[in-house]
Amino acid sequence: MPSDHPNPPCRLCGATEPLCRSHIFPRFTFKRMKARDGHFYRFDGQRRAWESRRRQDDCFEYLLCKGCEQRFQRWESSIARLFARGFFDNLEPSAGKKSTILQLPDYATAKLYLLSLLWRCHAAKDPIFRQVELGARHDARLRQMLLSSDPGEPWEYGCLISIPHLQLDDGKVDRPPIAMMPETMHFGAEHGLRLVRMVIDGIVLCFVIGSPDRMRQWRGVPALFQRSGRLIVGIEDAMEMPFFIKQLQLSFGVQNPMHE
Ligand SMILES: [Zn+2]
Repeated sequence: MPSDHPNPPCRLCGATEPLCRSHIFPRFTFKRMKARDGHFYRFDGQRRAWESRRRQDDCFEYLLCKGCEQRFQRWESSIARLFARGFFDNLEPSAGKKSTILQLPDYATAKLYLLSLLWRCHAAKDPIFRQVELGARHDARLRQMLLSSDPGEPWEYGCLISIPHLQLDDGKVDRPPIAMMPETMHFGAEHGLRLVRMVIDGIVLCFVIGSPDRMRQWRGVPALFQRSGRLIVGIEDAMEMPFFIKQLQLSFGVQNPMHE
């Protein structure tokens, strides 16, 4: 519902219209978390500590005008339908590999959805998103791509996706319904690249951010989501991912067999 507040302008298109209550992480991604009473956690990089955020669906801000909100919702709806169909459930790695290949119906829609997530985390004012500060140049480029529905090349803000799995006591293999606030990791000054990592509904998204020249060096990297809709998804044992184990312990009391 649009707010009555006349300003500030829409963060995406600059229109001075009433702003909508925009979710930063889309609502549908919390469906499974709510069903299992999972909590929303964030990692505070300065204090090196995890903090609970009990209200899972309050991650919203008055960010977008109605037109821009609807633009984002079109992409979200397509992706929500894939989730509802179980497209990302019960995935198994290909023989001898730690990954599998998915064929998404439409590169543009899925990539624009991913770009909208990245940009929203950057644009959000809530301090829980403070680790994502992309700077004015990336802000302008991402807004241009989003406003013109241009998904860009696979290497532009390319996304690496992996799905940690957890072997449960009953023998089932499951994707834990966890969300984690985005964090930025640096490759070091000589590489000039940053990796923005976030976890949404148990899916780990890693965006590669850098100057156009730096990002272009990832051209042809098959692990990035491709124009053909081909997506290589890493299928990993959650217990081999320390940051994920920590999250599991906090959310569900799962014991760490590695005794950290
Ligand atoms: Zn707008």
